[in-house]
Amino acid sequence: MFNQKPCPVSGCPNYAVSFRDECYNHLEDKDAYRQYLYSYFEKNSMFTGLNFSYVPFADMEFHEKVFLLVDFNHAQFSNLIADNLTLHMCFLDYALFDSCKLIGAKHTHCVFAGSRLRNTLIEDTNMLQTNFNNTDMKNVVFSEADLYNSRFIAGRLEDVSFHDCNLKNVNFRRTFRQNVSFKYSNHEDALFDEKDAV
Ligand SMILES: [Zn+2]
Repeated sequence: MFNQKPCPVSGCPNYAVSFRDECYNHLEDKDAYRQYLYSYFEKNSMFTGLNFSYVPFADMEFHEKVFLLVDFNHAQFSNLIADNLTLHMCFLDYALFDSCKLIGAKHTHCVFAGSRLRNTLIEDTNMLQTNFNNTDMKNVVFSEADLYNSRFIAGRLEDVSFHDCNLKNVNFRRTFRQNVSFKYSNHEDALFDEKDAV
């Protein structure tokens, strides 16, 4: 399960990140910690019950990694290139993805609620029952993604393309959408506000 050790700094509501006693914001050796994580991710392929909340990651490549019950809430990913990832019950709420490519991933029961996605490609990816509620997306492409039963409720989608995606039971209610394309996707099987024909 998750590492739920509280940060010992008085008044801090966060939990300690994995392999350290404090939360990321209260680490004194943030650079060294990130370097440690980069080599830890490189040397291992399966990660379970870890907490990387608030950690900023940049210029990383993940190849066939498996994450189970890993907490990345408020983490930041820039220039992440990931192929064939497996994420099960991972928390990415309020995370930031900027200039990322996620290709061939399998996500089940993951939470992206409140996250921000910028200039990001999600391709050939199975994201069943994913919570994207209140996400803020700009310049994002979902291509050949199976989003069955996922929720984008109350999200902001600007310049977002769903190209050849499975949108069966996907909930777009209360979304703000500007320049959103559903080309070759079954948006007729998705859920929209009644007044809000696509
Ligand atoms: Zn703290």
